[in-house]
Amino acid sequence: MTAQRIPPQLPLLFQPSAESVLRDAQRTIQESTAVWDDVVKNVSPEQANIENTIIPIAHIENETMAVNDVVYLFATTHPSEEIRVASKAAKRLTDNAEVDRYLRNDMFTLVDAVLKNTDEALTHPETYRFLVKHHAKFAENGCDLKGAAKDKFESDKKKLKSITQQYLTNLDDDQSGLWFSQSDLDGLPSSFVESLKTGDGENRGKYWVNMKKSHHERILKYATSEQTRMQYFIAHQSRMPANIPLCHEIFLLRHSLARQMGWQSWAKFKMSNKMMTSPDAVRSTLLDFKNKSSELKKKQIADLLALKKADAPASNDQDTKLFLWDVAFYKKLLQEKSYSIAAQSISEYFELRTVISNILSLYGRLFEIQFEIVTCDVAQYLHGDQSSATRWHDDVFFYSVWDLRAESSFLGYIYFDPHPRQGKYTHTGHFNLQKGFERQGGGRKYPCAALITNQAKAVDGKPSLLSPNEVRAIFHEVGHGLHNLLSVTKFARFHGPKVDRDFVETPSILFEFFLWTPDRLREVSCHYSHVSTELEAAWKTANPTAQGLPPQKLPDEMIEAVIYSAHDTLGDLRNLHFGLYDLAVHDPPSTEALEHMNICATYNQMWFDTVGVHGGEAVGDLGWEWAHGESVVRLIMGDQYDAGYYAYIMGRMWALDIFETFFEKDTMNTQEARRYREMLLKPGGSQSGWKTLTEYLGREPNPGPYYRWLKRSS
Ligand SMILES: [Zn+2]
Repeated sequence: MTAQRIPPQLPLLFQPSAESVLRDAQRTIQESTAVWDDVVKNVSPEQANIENTIIPIAHIENETMAVNDVVYLFATTHPSEEIRVASKAAKRLTDNAEVDRYLRNDMFTLVDAVLKNTDEALTHPETYRFLVKHHAKFAENGCDLKGAAKDKFESDKKKLKSITQQYLTNLDDDQSGLWFSQSDLDGLPSSFVESLKTGDGENRGKYWVNMKKSHHERILKYATSEQTRMQYFIAHQSRMPANIPLCHEIFLLRHSLARQMGWQSWAKFKMSNKMMTSPDAVRSTLLDFKNKSSELKKKQIADLLALKKADAPASNDQDTKLFLWDVAFYKKLLQEKSYSIAAQSISEYFELRTVISNILSLYGRLFEIQFEIVTCDVAQYLHGDQSSATRWHDDVFFYSVWDLRAESSFLGYIYFDPHPRQGKYTHTGHFNLQKGFERQGGGRKYPCAALITNQAKAVDGKPSLLSPNEVRAIFHEVGHGLHNLLSVTKFARFHGPKVDRDFVETPSILFEFFLWTPDRLREVSCHYSHVSTELEAAWKTANPTAQGLPPQKLPDEMIEAVIYSAHDTLGDLRNLHFGLYDLAVHDPPSTEALEHMNICATYNQMWFDTVGVHGGEAVGDLGWEWAHGESVVRLIMGDQYDAGYYAYIMGRMWALDIFETFFEKDTMNTQEARRYREMLLKPGGSQSGWKTLTEYLGREPNPGPYYRWLKRSS
């Protein structure tokens, strides 16, 4: 046993079977129903108050979330397909049961009475917020409706859940890819090509490139053949034909549900519950950004196009265009030309495990907290024979987290699941694995954060190396993890990142700007040859003639190159495209307009209109239906960023406002970090995001710092 502290809350055990996953979910449904029945049986509308009606519901919700968050995690992370399927079925069961609960008029009558009889000024603010949100949820589930209207609403709502889940499952289970010959893959790092599956039969001598993020990023950035990049790009956009018909169906169902509830559009309904309450106000901010960035956009496109023309002078020079599949490649080339540095040599300073450990120690210093890896020894000590079940896969590792400001104050756990595998979530994301809350009998439930990412695994002694963008993504997700770990709320539904949906990205985007400063970038870096004797040997084998090792930390000229490429107007405009498309499908001018909307063409046309770079419409004869990007979009289709994608754009504006105002001069200002932690992270969603942000800033946010940041790239 090492000298580690013993956490007051043991690590979770992950020992699911398909049966236990369903059983756990069913048990939470039964327990919730029992509490609801009990309240309805024992309380009359005249007597109904916070204590006898709201608090019992809140407590059972807290406990239910603690069970179900683990059950849901398996859907996209567990190595067993049977368990993934069971987890998805469990989610469907609990979702449907929740819809059923919030359709109960007997409970709605009580909650309505409590809301009418409760004096906000005399009630704990978080409890009052619970009451208001709880009340609103009945309306969201059509509780105000009666008879056939109510039946239709219920059936539409379940249908929407099921289609949406099918859409997302299709993406999770995506196994598509393309075979490429060695020459097709010219320009790609040899370590990457060697890690690819090779074919036999008609594919003998070819390499299998899948559609996951790590392959996607590398092909578009490194493949010197435009044909390869184009073929891959178009195939990537159109990889999910099964989802094509589901898109329109989802938007129509959402629109219809909003109308049934009395809202004009899905966006108006969703924003009724957010920081930004009007789609028109959001649209106007987004269009303002589009206008203000148009000169920068033209300049970036002209720079990249000039490089393309110089790089591969075509016979018809006049007609040479910059395409979407060129952007990452020429951006990388521009960086290399401007700084004479190969992108691959920058990645050598970002070895996966070292980056994670350095990011944690950086966050640790800033917020005066400590991350202690939970070794096998410690897991064994805490859980005996069951210690191997403290992780859901062998790749997973985790830390206990401690507050250094208070003696032995435990904060929770953070898990990392870094490598891709079949059936796993294919993006980079933070999962609220356990939310914190006040337990019924006293004491706290401590939170657990899980970071699910997809960096290629180290093979044959060669390290897993990250691009600066992948490092940024980890910085971002650990930012969500910190929001989870440093929040203290009464109720699980408000814990940490469970803020207004359009505020959730701000705290994590803020930390991306920490990375784009020379000191922090240097701090996170470490050339892989300095990580271990094995990796030192690997580097020497790959560089047999080199004298000595490269410097340990990222050299200044590389730091400059990385920060230069972080100012990415075209990348920001791509997000703007998603934001505007999201509003187009969720806030159409009329029902007829949505019914007649060509979703695919709308998506592609808005892409060109926003980013200004051509796609397949300029090469083939398919026009605006050159690919089906609308069917592989994830966030807008799930139930978290629908009519809310703008959170990534406005979140960036708000984050830069915070960064420039409070942290830019001194990124390791622990005094300011304390204030930030107390005022911005700790409350979670226990108050509105607008209140949190404006109280922390001491004023309303302004987009000026964001535009200044963009301009620095020119
Ligand atoms: Zn995020």
